[in-house]
Amino acid sequence: MIKKAIAVMTSGGDSPGIAAARAVVRTALSEGVSVYGINNGYQGMLDDDIVELDSRSVSDMIQRGGTFLGTARSMEFKTPEGRKKGFDNLMKHGIEGLVIIGGDGSLTGGSLLSKETGIPIVGLPGTIDNDVWGMDYTIGCDTAANTIVDAINKLRDTASAHRRIMVVEVMGRNSGWLAMMAGIAGGAEYVLVPEVKYDLDEMCHELKAMYDAGKRYSIIVIAEGAGSGVGLGKVVEEKTGIDTRVSVLGHIQRGGSPTVEDRMKASMLGEKAALAIISGATNLVFGFNEGKVVGVNLFDAVNNKKTLDPELVRLARVLA
Ligand code: ADP
Repeated sequence: MIKKAIAVMTSGGDSPGIAAARAVVRTALSEGVSVYGINNGYQGMLDDDIVELDSRSVSDMIQRGGTFLGTARSMEFKTPEGRKKGFDNLMKHGIEGLVIIGGDGSLTGGSLLSKETGIPIVGLPGTIDNDVWGMDYTIGCDTAANTIVDAINKLRDTASAHRRIMVVEVMGRNSGWLAMMAGIAGGAEYVLVPEVKYDLDEMCHELKAMYDAGKRYSIIVIAEGAGSGVGLGKVVEEKTGIDTRVSVLGHIQRGGSPTVEDRMKASMLGEKAALAIISGATNLVFGFNEGKVVGVNLFDAVNNKKTLDPELVRLARVLA
């Protein structure tokens, strides 16, 4: 049972999940527990960039993208000595438990900190990649997918006007979840992801046949982990003889005002995380699975790899 203070941090690749941190802060305060914000992820923990937050610290935040706490990557935290230094800083402030909002790497760091120091830790899956094991939703993925779909809608208009093929490169170095969600929702003809091998010759052959039959546009979504959009565009144009353009969406996918789904789910998860850690829980990651809040063991979450749903791969093919 935590009596006095917890801390909250965002870490790793940013995702639009401020509502989660806001909910942690307000829930803890309403339980009579102080909340510290750790700025810039693990780097801030090592630099003792730790400040006490009040209810107003998170005013005017819910509509914002990014993270008001900042985020960073820290090599030093990957060492046991670094983690000990971070723990000592937490102790200086009387912090009894930590809520970490981040992706796979951040949660792995948290699991080691917990194992080595015993400090209670609850994680929330803050990543646009939707790649945390044990759950089908991560905070920020919906906003990023909506940004991609918005771009696809616009690109389809111009592709159709010129009878072009549009290649859209999206984020996802190791995971094709984001590409698959946005590709299906955006009505893409092909979704290329790192998990699935694709036959370039066959794809180009099909594209050529479609255009010969009168098709005016095609959208190919490619996750960065499946190859370079620019490289793919060149090959497709060469092999099909059809005008092909490439859009690399880049960091635009990380920013922007969060969707209602992300705000709602992040708020619910933030409250759950704060209540859990205050009541003495540790080594849990809260997420949504099949529409319900689930608490997954932190070590299971980081030691297992979430695989891409083959049903989505199949659906993308059927609907192409
Ligand atoms: P994400 O959380 O988005 O997956 P990273 O993989 O960059 O982002 O991880 C964020 C930070 O978490 C790293 O900079 C590092 O400080 C910490 N971290 C990542 N992986 C590990 C690890 N294996 N051991 C300890 N700390 C880690």
